Amino acid sequence: MKEFDVVVIGAGPGGYVSAIRAAQLGLKTACVDKWVDAKGKPSLGGTCLNVGCIPSKALLDSSHHYHNLQHLLPDHGIDCGTVKVDLGKMMERKDKVVQNLTRGVSGLLRKNKIEFFSGTARFTGNNDVEITDQGGDKETIRGANIVIAAGSVPIDIGVAPVDGDRIVDNEDALAFDAVPARLGIIGAGVIGLELGSVWSRLGSEVVILEAMDQFLGAADGAIAKEAGKLFKRQGLDIRLGCRVTGARPTDNGVAVKYEDSDGAHGLEVDKLIVAVGRRAYADLLDVEAAGVSLDDRGRVVVDGYCRTTQPHIYAIGDVTTGPMLAHKASEEGIAVAEMIAGQSGHIDHSIVPWVIYTHPEIAWVGKTATELEAEGIEYSTGAFPFMAIGRAQGAGETDGLVRVYACARTDRLLGVHIIGSHASELIAEAVAVMAFHGSAEDMGRTIHAHPTLSEALHEAALAAGTGAIHI
Ligand code: FAD
Ligand code: NAD
Repeated sequence: MKEFDVVVIGAGPGGYVSAIRAAQLGLKTACVDKWVDAKGKPSLGGTCLNVGCIPSKALLDSSHHYHNLQHLLPDHGIDCGTVKVDLGKMMERKDKVVQNLTRGVSGLLRKNKIEFFSGTARFTGNNDVEITDQGGDKETIRGANIVIAAGSVPIDIGVAPVDGDRIVDNEDALAFDAVPARLGIIGAGVIGLELGSVWSRLGSEVVILEAMDQFLGAADGAIAKEAGKLFKRQGLDIRLGCRVTGARPTDNGVAVKYEDSDGAHGLEVDKLIVAVGRRAYADLLDVEAAGVSLDDRGRVVVDGYCRTTQPHIYAIGDVTTGPMLAHKASEEGIAVAEMIAGQSGHIDHSIVPWVIYTHPEIAWVGKTATELEAEGIEYSTGAFPFMAIGRAQGAGETDGLVRVYACARTDRLLGVHIIGSHASELIAEAVAVMAFHGSAEDMGRTIHAHPTLSEALHEAALAAGTGAIHI
């Protein structure tokens, strides 16, 4: 039997990153993953690279270019004439981006001398992992330490069973072969908003049915309000407080039934995307054979250091608690590898940034006003609109604002919330300041280049203290 210092189960952004760091630290490392492409070849990178972050962002960028050609560039005095979409080519490009990156991960594992096993892993003991390959052959390997990084899968709801054709999950919704004229989406969460934006820009009439009465409940209230206004202006029809009671394929599309405070309604669409969240995916692992516990939502139980109920078995990323984000999975992967190597791996879960890649983008780190109030923390706040930023005006990207929260007593930065163009890049500054326990004044006294969108962060930080300059 092959023996390793570390066996990593899953080659998503949690698993492959953990395996690389473990190997870099001199540990003999194996990585197992079952994902294969349409030709049956291993395709590393997990949900993120295959059907998540990367293909969705490729389509968001492509559809954004199309949108800008029609709606932004004419304002810049550029007339592009009639603009057409070649959806087949757009999808080919997205697939190529995915292929380049998944192959890149295979190359990184080889470079770091990590032994890769393609197949489905399950525990057969405390240190033993049995792998069944695509042909059904089995091999058992042993790990002195094991990292569970098995990720997540979409949640099914019985009232709208996914058939992969008319009623689809996020995977199929990244590969439609034609732009649906009428697109329904269940769930106004991250996937609903991102994929709704893609297909709306490409010409679909999009209706999003959301169960909650509140829009974007996890985001700061001021940002969610602005987002709701801007998305409505873009033509996304987001209906709140809707309970879907049924969805079934018809000859022409999908018949959806839902109820809201006004009563029962029907909706006819060509395609329906179910995007109501994801759940941890420990289903195939037989974790009880290793003495590892799951909670009532099927997540691997861990402590603040990603240690499971077994001291030599760790769990990271979507398969355990915390936000389901690629960078959170990767950070945990690095920390766990360092702990296994005897170092003091560190994860600060309080400053995991969130980004929603709509246009404008939404990004935040730290606490919202609602959270601060619920925790009884007194805060000062400052806000600044992109409309008052020279660079934003020059670019024609004036929608949105930055809002910061700081401790009223110490001025320590507690939360930064952005809705605006390039928010995904701008948020990194706030994460860095908060990682070093910086204050709003620290951000306000830091020189920001002019003219840049980052000046909105500078001004919002000033607004939380002595006052913004340009408003
Ligand atoms: P995964 O990426 O799910 O990888 C787990 C791997 O384990 C998979 O390859 C799976 O095949 C393998 N596996 C599972 N069980 C077994 C087994 N028994 N044996 C062998 N292998 C097994 N996050 C962001 O941060 N930014 C984004 O922009 C973003 N966009 C997203 C867009 C979409 C449409 C979706 C669906 C998700 C998006 N996410 C995004 C979330 C992100 O993809 C996940 O948080 C991330 O992939 C989690 O990484 P992971 O390594 O924990 O799990
Ligand atoms: P989500 O949790 O973001 O949103 C699901 C939405 O569906 C919620 O608003 C919820 O209230 C609603 N909902 C749940 N059940 C419903 C029902 N029966 N009827 C109507 N609405 C219902 O989940 P998601 O959008 O599926 O995405 C899953 C996860 O993937 C995200 O939480 C996130 O962690 C990750 N993700 C991240 C990014 C990113 O970082 N940009 C992008 C996509 C996905």
